Amino acid sequence: MTILNRRCVVLHSGGLDSLLSLVIMKNLGFEAIPLFIKTPFYDKDINSIKEQLEPFGVELTIKEDFKGYMSMLKNPRFGYGKNLNPCIDCKIFFYKKAKELMEEAQASFVVTGEVLGQRPMSQRSYTILRTLEKQSGLSDLVLRPLSAQCLPETKMEQESIVDREKLYCIQGRARKIQLELAQNLGIENFESPAGGCLLTDVQFSARLEEAMNRKEEFHNPKAIELLRIGRHFRIDGFKFVVSRNEKETKELLENFDLLPIVMCLNEPGAVGVFLKEPHMDTIIKGASIVKRYSRKAKNLVFKGSREFIIDIKPMRGEEVNKYRIGGINA
Ligand code: SF4
Repeated sequence: MTILNRRCVVLHSGGLDSLLSLVIMKNLGFEAIPLFIKTPFYDKDINSIKEQLEPFGVELTIKEDFKGYMSMLKNPRFGYGKNLNPCIDCKIFFYKKAKELMEEAQASFVVTGEVLGQRPMSQRSYTILRTLEKQSGLSDLVLRPLSAQCLPETKMEQESIVDREKLYCIQGRARKIQLELAQNLGIENFESPAGGCLLTDVQFSARLEEAMNRKEEFHNPKAIELLRIGRHFRIDGFKFVVSRNEKETKELLENFDLLPIVMCLNEPGAVGVFLKEPHMDTIIKGASIVKRYSRKAKNLVFKGSREFIIDIKPMRGEEVNKYRIGGINA
């Protein structure tokens, strides 16, 4: 049996709703511990989130569990949304991490910025919210300050640890009430740090799905990171990624510099990286694709376990499309 105290873990995504919930709890006199769960797909700038929290004198805790998240993603008990977003299982995963911190920090309940009816999958109804609690072992121990008054009482309200009258009854997708509340609570920096969940993106989901049954790629953080950028190809079973612009060329050269690479010898142009070093035939096909996107280039160079110059013609469009992952517009 949980004995309630005045310390809580607040699941913080960097968005306005979770920030409001944190400030509401602080103003009610609770020690609120913000927790950000880092996943390979939820692309938020952590420094902006930390900055956003500075005025409230709280320190952000970050938890990350790549392996755990990927196995949930492979087999989500409650299925996927429109793309490869397993929102219900993902929320259960977040709740479980919050529970872990709750126990570590000797807090007694969890707070979220969830708003009833705001999202189609994970916040659709009270039944779904109850499912999240039950599946994570947090039944009655999750307080949603923004919607609490239109939800059944939680243990914290029943035991008068939290005054229900000081909470809210916000429902639906409109943001007007939250914006007014932010103003009333003196919250100024509530711009959500850029980036969202890549699992809701159709093109990204197509790439991820293609990698899903390749164990060595699906469980490799570098391979997953690589899914975010470039044009993606599968050549003779080898993953090959080619930059689409200068920014991506720089990113591939700086962040993936340990991978085997095909690049222009003397002129600026695209670069292509293999996830692992392929046979000569495959390198040549990859080089021909790079040449297609580097019209000014004369010769290319391959840098891997060995280094050599390649003189090759650009691959024709129809052939390039044969190797492309995620359709011809990808
Ligand atoms: S949108 Fe992404 S981060 Fe949000 S619940 Fe769904 S899968 Fe998780």
